[in-house]
Amino acid sequence: MPFRYIDIHSHLNFVAFDADREATVKRALDAGVAMINVGTQQDTSKKAVELAEKYEQGVYAIVGLHPVHTSKSFHDEKELGEGGKEFTSRGEAFEVSNYKTLAEHPKVVGIGECGLDYYRMEHEGWNMEQKRQEEAFRAQIELAIEVKKPLMLHLRNGSGKSAYLDAFRILESCFLNRESTVRGNLHFFAGSIEEAKPFLELGFTFSFTGVVTFAKDYEGIVQYLPLDRILSETDSPYVTPAPFRGKRNEPLYVQEVVKAIARIRGEDEELVRAQIIKNAEHLFGISLS
Ligand SMILES: [Zn+2]
Repeated sequence: MPFRYIDIHSHLNFVAFDADREATVKRALDAGVAMINVGTQQDTSKKAVELAEKYEQGVYAIVGLHPVHTSKSFHDEKELGEGGKEFTSRGEAFEVSNYKTLAEHPKVVGIGECGLDYYRMEHEGWNMEQKRQEEAFRAQIELAIEVKKPLMLHLRNGSGKSAYLDAFRILESCFLNRESTVRGNLHFFAGSIEEAKPFLELGFTFSFTGVVTFAKDYEGIVQYLPLDRILSETDSPYVTPAPFRGKRNEPLYVQEVVKAIARIRGEDEELVRAQIIKNAEHLFGISLS
């Protein structure tokens, strides 16, 4: 079945979908929406792969360690439920041996979500936390180069620091003098045009969520980027697009994101839709149409 849309970053692997995971996948597939479920630590990465295995086409996985899970504390009930608190409270160091087999799985189309998240970081202990995030990030870049799959980047500014510029410096040093053609996507891009430029030069793509349907902040960057560098995502179960705000988000709603991107750019919706499918096929090496 040819797919008309793709949600390149969703989390149906999270506890928020325990009650109706397969029905949610079905609603998307029936509407011609393919999806990539993204892991955030070992458990959710494994679940993303298991889910992808159940479907012949249209459901893929990305595996990796989210920067907020490299240190103590961050625990989201929509993600892990009541369980797993002991695990997230001590943080996970990225052990490549725990991810290598998953990363090589044929349904796995990338490594992540990985990167730097300065948003929740406090000044106290900043250096140590930043160092843990950077170490995990570097290890995942190495894994991506090794398995030749693209990176799904999670970058968030905070404490007056640009996670984007730091990530670029790290990527550059990892790619320097290497033959690798591995690239990646900046998920939920919320940086400035200046922060986007070095990644554009590096050949990376940028994905946008449902916030583009109701917030004006993204209009400048959505208009600035070349269409062949733009991708669509929902980040389900979070950031539900208009007109479904207030409900739990799901991949089906990525259609609203694509519509909003076309409207903001003043381009034909069908043209934008078709190009986004091509962009995803190109980045992830999959066949959708
Ligand atoms: Zn995510």
